[in-house]
Amino acid sequence: MAKKDYYEILGVSKNATPDEIKKAYRSQVKKYHPDLHPGDEAAAEKFKELNEAHEVLSDEQKRKNYDTFGDPNGNMGGGFGGASGFSGFGGFEDIFGDIFGGFGGGRSRTQTKTKGEDITIELTLSFLDAAKGCRREIVYDRNEPCADCKGTGAKDGKAYKTCEKCGGSGQIQYTSSNGFFRSVNVRPCDECRGTGKKVLENCKSCGGKGYSKKTTKFTVDIPAGADTGSYIRKVGFGEASKNGGAPGDLIVVMKVEPSRIFKRKNFDLYVTVPVSFTTATLGGKVKVPLIDDTIEYTIPEGTQSGKVFFARGKGIKTSRGTGDLYITVLVEVPTKLSREQKKILEELEKTTEIKQCPQMKQYKDNVESMYGTDPYSNSK
Ligand SMILES: [Zn+2]
Ligand SMILES: [Zn+2]
Repeated sequence: MAKKDYYEILGVSKNATPDEIKKAYRSQVKKYHPDLHPGDEAAAEKFKELNEAHEVLSDEQKRKNYDTFGDPNGNMGGGFGGASGFSGFGGFEDIFGDIFGGFGGGRSRTQTKTKGEDITIELTLSFLDAAKGCRREIVYDRNEPCADCKGTGAKDGKAYKTCEKCGGSGQIQYTSSNGFFRSVNVRPCDECRGTGKKVLENCKSCGGKGYSKKTTKFTVDIPAGADTGSYIRKVGFGEASKNGGAPGDLIVVMKVEPSRIFKRKNFDLYVTVPVSFTTATLGGKVKVPLIDDTIEYTIPEGTQSGKVFFARGKGIKTSRGTGDLYITVLVEVPTKLSREQKKILEELEKTTEIKQCPQMKQYKDNVESMYGTDPYSNSK
């Protein structure tokens, strides 16, 4: 599968704003509208591509998925027990797609040869492994197509003949009638179970089944930025087909453990840094964690609790973009002070003027103007 560059299709840059995307789409789609090019397949294809590109890039979530993983697919559709919000590592299909090529008879379009079942594995990653990317060995059991007989079940993959009952098509046509209507239907041939082949001598390795239970192992590189619900589809690594069809796929779904330090939204990281009342008041330095390291952050003099600082590009770094770091300062009020400490604070309070605390000043003015009383008159 060649990956399409949706930005190139629309003729916009990767940083295009939603407005620019909309504009580019409108002007292009006018040029290639099928009504203007009757019978022109190239134009029709281009029109289709434009719509596809627009559908992805005009949707914030899809665009983000596409930018990140090269796949807009936010959903896996049915078959996942209603799980939603899956973002795909679509690019991985490209990487793995051909590993299985030709083995086990390859893909078949004959409907009677059913594809093997998909296998889903949940892979738990620590917060940092997911953020940084990691390499994991996947070990699981599956019915693997037999290499000795190439999935045919016949010795050396050759000891079979064409099924006589179905003539090798693997399917039987039959007509049914309910008295008014006759219809022609197709069902898998029972003689050959839809394979179209009659095995003359069984393959010894698999006992004629064409597959056998095996432990499958491989190493997978998980790119930086995987999130819960991200998945990797490894084509052909699911269960073998029971009747010579293509094997199913393996779907590795990520589950990312929470961090004790960070919260995460896409590639942005959020960290709450408690600082002392004194540091917040006088200013000071505090180390703030990053994915790999810490940075020394200078809290400016007079920082209020709840103030959010922003460090561009200090979030999760991926091949498709980098997040930012949001640092929320939490001013911690000291508890269990000694008598002496309390005295120092009282001294400070006595000399503090209300104009040094603009929020208190505003509150005082508001209450005074409406109620005629100083809200802080008894606080000292
Ligand atoms: Zn075999
Ligand atoms: Zn048959």
